[in-house]
Amino acid sequence: MSDKRVRVRFAPSPTGGLHLGGVRTALFNYLFAKKHNGDFILRIEDTDQTRFVEGAEQYIIDCLNWCGITPDESPVTPGQYAPYRQSERKSLYRQYAEQLVMQGHAYYAFDTAEELDKNRKEIPNFQYGQVYRDGLRNSLSLPQHEVDQLLADHTPHVIRIKIPADQSVSFTDMIRGRVSFETNTVDDKVLLKADGMPTYHLAVVVDDYLMKISHAFRGEEWLPSAPVHLLLWEYLGWKADMPQWAHLPLILKPDGHGKLSKRDGARLGFPVFALDWEGSPGFSGMGFLPEAFVNFLATLGWNDGSGQEIYTLEELVGKFSIDRISKAGAKFDFEKAKWFNAEWIKKTKAESLKLKVKEVLTAKGIDVKDDTYLLTIIDLIKDRCTLLPDFYQQASYFFQIPAEYDLNAVKPKWTDEKTTFFNTFIDQLKAAPTLIAADTEANFKALAEEKGLKTGDVMLPFRIMLVGGKFGPHVFDIAALLGKDETVNRIEQALVAFTA
Ligand code: GLU
Repeated sequence: MSDKRVRVRFAPSPTGGLHLGGVRTALFNYLFAKKHNGDFILRIEDTDQTRFVEGAEQYIIDCLNWCGITPDESPVTPGQYAPYRQSERKSLYRQYAEQLVMQGHAYYAFDTAEELDKNRKEIPNFQYGQVYRDGLRNSLSLPQHEVDQLLADHTPHVIRIKIPADQSVSFTDMIRGRVSFETNTVDDKVLLKADGMPTYHLAVVVDDYLMKISHAFRGEEWLPSAPVHLLLWEYLGWKADMPQWAHLPLILKPDGHGKLSKRDGARLGFPVFALDWEGSPGFSGMGFLPEAFVNFLATLGWNDGSGQEIYTLEELVGKFSIDRISKAGAKFDFEKAKWFNAEWIKKTKAESLKLKVKEVLTAKGIDVKDDTYLLTIIDLIKDRCTLLPDFYQQASYFFQIPAEYDLNAVKPKWTDEKTTFFNTFIDQLKAAPTLIAADTEANFKALAEEKGLKTGDVMLPFRIMLVGGKFGPHVFDIAALLGKDETVNRIEQALVAFTA
């Protein structure tokens, strides 16, 4: 790698919620920058005012913060290359477009929207480019005096790049290797719009140059734009400073057929956004930990070859390498995402989960008064939780008596012997000073044997008495946490329901 400072940019357009593919692009930019002690920049590409969505920029910033990949420079934390919103850089771009016109690499085009629409309707596969441009209204086809007059009259016009005929343009992509394009297939893209705003193509090149971007990671869907950008870098005389490109593999639908879209989430019932967006639950809203989400995203198209799957962000920074990014698309697998979350919940200390679990419980009306009690509970149940809301199902019975019992699991096999067993067990519990898990378990088993019952036959009912169903950690650990009085109370109440 050259000794140029590593500066990468994530350059989303604020046109809606940030899709998880966008977050992965941001992540790979971040990992690469941090691995090489470089800068990670957020640039908002808002030149298309017609697609601008209120709140989208803040949402992007919130997503990056939630993921822990906060930019070093951004519209809200500007560095020396400010501003970081392209709309605020508007006045910068025209000079470059005009320079290209002067050099013969671009031209003014005066065609109206109606004229262009007509062409699109009448000419199959119409492209504004070398085949048709001479017959259209632009500074290449019209006499100079007419062009001068149109400009003097402030006739609305755009500036288009003049794509050369019969050339092959190529570059070396860090993931794909040598990539070539024939210019005959590329149209004369608009560089500067009639309102004076640059298009994405001009702005991305000018800003990558001015912001001294060294490497650019972006989605594979931008590969077709690369020849236009390459020519611009060349024509503007900046080729030696062009960033190294890496076009990331697509994230595919779960069945592998086609690119994952925002609509697939609603259709197949999984999130496609990091945070909630306009009524669609994001990974955060569904109860994912940001560490798990980031870990999952990193494995969509990348692995370090060792078989390791669980990484912290710091580990990812250390292990990340471009030569381990695959060229092939990565299938989105929601079950795998959940697996990552379960692993991360297991791995995370109770203290770090506490606030999130409290939020889950409070939302369900449970008032957690004792943090130490909550921490013990979290430690006891976290291995059973996949998503954060699971903490409610797994923890609620520690705070409130079960609202209902799985009667089908006990009633059909209930006997008077079992009633006697539990009444004797209550007496034993009451007689003991406190409820200690191991002692209670030993007494419970001995009593079952004495009464001629199999331990299993009374163990399941005991669990259902305490938690309501066939779930939860070791039942004597639950009883110990509930304490003697509450355990006795629950057995008594459940006996009424079981024998009714
Ligand atoms: N503004 C483009 C987007 O919305 C950025 C593409 C690029 O990184 O060049 O994704």
